[in-house]
Amino acid sequence: MRWENLTADQDRSRVDAALFGADTVVTRTVDTPEFRGVTFHEVRARSIVNRVPGASRMPFEWTVNPYRGCTHACVYCFARSTHGYLDLDTGIGFDTQIVVKVNAPELLRQRLASRSWRGEHIAMGTNVDCYQRAEGRYRLMPGVLAALRDHANPFSILTKGTLILRDLDLLRQAAEVTDVGVSVSVGFTDPDLWRTVEPGTPAPERRLDVVRALAAQGIGCGVLMAPVIPFLSDGPDQLRATVRAVAEAGATSVTPLALHLRPGAREWFTAWLARHHPHLVRRYERLYADGAYAPKWYQRRITRQVHELAREYGIGPARAELPRRIRPAAPTPPRMTEPTQLTLI
Ligand code: SF4
Repeated sequence: MRWENLTADQDRSRVDAALFGADTVVTRTVDTPEFRGVTFHEVRARSIVNRVPGASRMPFEWTVNPYRGCTHACVYCFARSTHGYLDLDTGIGFDTQIVVKVNAPELLRQRLASRSWRGEHIAMGTNVDCYQRAEGRYRLMPGVLAALRDHANPFSILTKGTLILRDLDLLRQAAEVTDVGVSVSVGFTDPDLWRTVEPGTPAPERRLDVVRALAAQGIGCGVLMAPVIPFLSDGPDQLRATVRAVAEAGATSVTPLALHLRPGAREWFTAWLARHHPHLVRRYERLYADGAYAPKWYQRRITRQVHELAREYGIGPARAELPRRIRPAAPTPPRMTEPTQLTLI
């Protein structure tokens, strides 16, 4: 392991101040061979349970995010702009400059034990992926899950990471005492598209293995089919292949969401599009002419097609007769509010 200060003190204190206030941060930057090109900013955060602004429109009000930035490096990730709040780059910097809240488990335990906490649902994986590769190194989620289990606090997890299977026992233990929701994000199954647009993630088939493994354990797992990428993963045969694979994996639900391109993600995605699919740039300009979201007609079409396929392949409420108290996590809603930005993963 090689420890190295990669940022100038001045830059680092600016990042520190942007993170949590200059007096609360202990930052250590590390660059290890197994994470070549990735820098970890280890911080002792001041708080870990965040309230979602505009929560009335959300299926949850509280979130826990042990990381900021994500080595899964999805080109379309719209948490990218949150790196800008830290004075960090929203493109390659989002993929390689990872903020790690090393005290997340102890902070969460404190919060759950506080008299002001009312035991509300906590959603994880709503900003960046809590089971991204960094979690293999820092192992924050076992402590987080243990705290939630010990306080019988309901929670849900949305992830693209296969690492969640490491914590299966904890999930099961938590589900004995509270409601636990798990969803895996699989927008498509095309391997070529996956390699270029989600280069740091486990392959879609490996993510479906997670669904399979959870189902085998009697743990219901939904699939958030996100994003459906216009002109690249939305053909009838592509949608069918994805929904069929989701069904075969034993998912209890499938929820499609069309790609949306918020500022930060939009620039990064458009540059990628121009490199890999230049003939589509104009079509995207037209489709997203009115803003971050695909037109309503497009969203409705995708939803209808996927729901029809889900019925055809038998995904749906009939599958959702789940033992104990584990159920699919509520899908992340399509509308987000600053500054707590929610991300489809
Ligand atoms: S979309 Fe999710 S998994 Fe992909 S980079 Fe963003 S936070 Fe990570």
